[in-house]
Amino acid sequence: MNRKIRIATSWLDGCSGCHMSFLDIDERLLTVLDKFEIVYGPLVDAKQVPEGIDVALVEGAVSNQDDLELIQQLRARSSLLISLGDCAVTSNVPAMRNPHPLGKILERVYIENAQADQQIPANGVPPLLRHARPLHEVVKVDLHIPGCPPAPDLIFHCIAELLAGRTPNLETRARFG
Ligand code: SF4
Repeated sequence: MNRKIRIATSWLDGCSGCHMSFLDIDERLLTVLDKFEIVYGPLVDAKQVPEGIDVALVEGAVSNQDDLELIQQLRARSSLLISLGDCAVTSNVPAMRNPHPLGKILERVYIENAQADQQIPANGVPPLLRHARPLHEVVKVDLHIPGCPPAPDLIFHCIAELLAGRTPNLETRARFG
């Protein structure tokens, strides 16, 4: 492929640590910079998910309605979709709320623990889904990169392999669980 690979990154219900780990690849990113461009995500100023994404790296679990719509859009517009980090792979930290009823969680956060203006917001906040879910329970995922966060070396290995036209083999490089 002569053109640059179009990469999107996205951040659903996560802490941004996986994106920080991506940036921690540091100067090695420069060695492959001529091979790809980032067309969507928190690292660039793109408001809409574009068509024709080659690789989407997605951090975080699917926890609310906005996450759900975004992951479906990313899936529809990406050739390859990668779960980046344990929140995307297993739902990890966001899933800690799963055993508790939604109403109880909202009450705890917005009323019991609020210092002022105690009310559950009705506008401007996307509705929570009943459970925080890993990406593969919602859309087809092509590759899982585990870790909390995944090591920069592991992320770079995957990107370098994909840019070379190979499917990354993580069997001996990554540990799940
Ligand atoms: S996997 Fe870890 S570092 Fe990544 S978003 Fe989740 S909590 Fe943060």
